[in-house]
Amino acid sequence: MGGLKSIKSKLVIFAVLATLIPSLGLGLLSFRQNETQTSEKVTNQLLALTNDASREMELWMDKRVHEANVTATSSAVIEGLPAPNRSQTNTPVKNSRALAHYLRSVQEKLDTILELTVMDAAGQIVASSAQTPATVKLPKDWPGSTATEGLVIVPARWNELYGTASLSIAVPVLSYDNIIKGTLVAVLDLRTLQPHLKNDTKSPPGEVLLLDSDGMILVGSQVDTGKRMQFDVSLLQRLLAQPGKPLVFEGATHQDAIGLADASRELAVTIVAERDRAEVYSAWIEFRNMFLVLVSSLVLIMAAVAFKMGRSIVGPLQRLIRAADRIAAGDLDVRLTDKRNDELGHLTRVFNQMADRLRCSHAEIMAANEAMQQQNQMLETLSITDSLTGLYNRSKLDAILADQLARFKRTQRQFSLLMLDIDHFKTLNDTYGHVTGDEVLTSVARILLQSVRSIDYAARYGGDEFIVILVETSADQAQKTAERIRSQVANMRYSADGSTIAVTVSIGIVQYRPDYATPTTMLARVDNALYEAKRGGRNRAYCDHQETAKPRELNL
Ligand code: GH3
Ligand code: MG
Repeated sequence: MGGLKSIKSKLVIFAVLATLIPSLGLGLLSFRQNETQTSEKVTNQLLALTNDASREMELWMDKRVHEANVTATSSAVIEGLPAPNRSQTNTPVKNSRALAHYLRSVQEKLDTILELTVMDAAGQIVASSAQTPATVKLPKDWPGSTATEGLVIVPARWNELYGTASLSIAVPVLSYDNIIKGTLVAVLDLRTLQPHLKNDTKSPPGEVLLLDSDGMILVGSQVDTGKRMQFDVSLLQRLLAQPGKPLVFEGATHQDAIGLADASRELAVTIVAERDRAEVYSAWIEFRNMFLVLVSSLVLIMAAVAFKMGRSIVGPLQRLIRAADRIAAGDLDVRLTDKRNDELGHLTRVFNQMADRLRCSHAEIMAANEAMQQQNQMLETLSITDSLTGLYNRSKLDAILADQLARFKRTQRQFSLLMLDIDHFKTLNDTYGHVTGDEVLTSVARILLQSVRSIDYAARYGGDEFIVILVETSADQAQKTAERIRSQVANMRYSADGSTIAVTVSIGIVQYRPDYATPTTMLARVDNALYEAKRGGRNRAYCDHQETAKPRELNL
């Protein structure tokens, strides 16, 4: 049965594998493709974020430069500066105060500017909107050959004074006849760039950060601009080492972020775009979970179908095996019912036919066996029966006598023997013929059978002689039985040739004694007793009471 059970489990394993392998194969391919698409999409979105931020930053800068240039070309600034050939010490204090006042008024109007400072051609501060103006170190060859190119951008940094990130720009201040009179330095508030870094409606999802060369976060689309925040420098280096390629890291706005970096050489800042990785892959994870649920359901369904199939195969097979076992154990009354129209149904029908044939063959064998047993019985009966009288024959008599002797030796149970001989039978034969003689023999046998008990034995000894073995019987009791037989025979009348015949018998009686070593000895004794009955005048019984046997020729 174990083998059959394994058919079921093998089918289930096959169904699970047949479902799982292609599903997982296709799923893996699909995942890979999906992952590649997702990662390409997020890369493009991050690149779009950095590009947008870079462009917005340039626009912002252009506006700030324009504002600075407008201020630098105002008459208040131009006239507030001394001629280049005059020293600062000669600058009237009154002019300087008026310029500072003007600068403050401009700075207050423009929230993008933290402070405005005007320096003379020698680099000395002439006036500023701030109490302690920031100094800007201009390059030696500044402002260059062409005055309009003289824009200097000081890299953005964290400004402790204003608690924000700032960027300084310096533009030349030209006289009305186009001679450089000095410089206008504007310290810009990078916080004002924040709203432009990302367009909430147009830009792709994600955050943008601007970092200085030391990895300090200057401004970000989400970060709090009032705090100093440091970006991981080694991570920044890694990001910059592979521009345009996203990395996974612990971001400034998301714990588990994916992002990339782009350096803006013009403004000396690094733009980092980052996005929550879980959000990026949420669709992918949802797809994966759906796929797993689908595959699990498919596997379960297929396993259930395979199990049912296995059961529909194994069930009939088990019934067939049980039926075959019953037949092997000898129970042929087996009949299987199966209306299936498949191979198993065919097998069941063939099995039933086989069982039918076995039943028929078995019935035939049983009938033949019974007939044989009857014949054997008949043969056995014939072998121990005298064919004329139906009594036991001589050989059976010998066997019975031997048994009785052995029984006596075991149990000391006595028994007696009668030997009968019809008187003058030869004459009867001669007078009325052998057929009548045979009828007389048969009648005497019938009287013997009727006169003895069922436990006794009656046998034809030969010719007209009979032996009766009386079990558990003493000589005296045997004498009574003998007398009864004798009188019944004597009273019987036979009709032959129109005359009535009377027959008599002489009977010898002997009781077994331990000194009768063999059946032959006992037969000799009873034969002697019969002889005495004959000698005494026939039609009588003679009992041998412990007399020693006289030698006589036995009629064996
Ligand atoms: P006795 O009184 O001394 O016994 O005289 P008897 O004539 O009977 O002598 P005995 O017993 O020796 O004779 C037996 C006869 O029985 C001899 C034989 O012809 C006859 N006989 C033997 N077998 C059969 C048989 O099967 N059928 C017939 N009808 N006669 C038989
Ligand atoms: Mg006789």
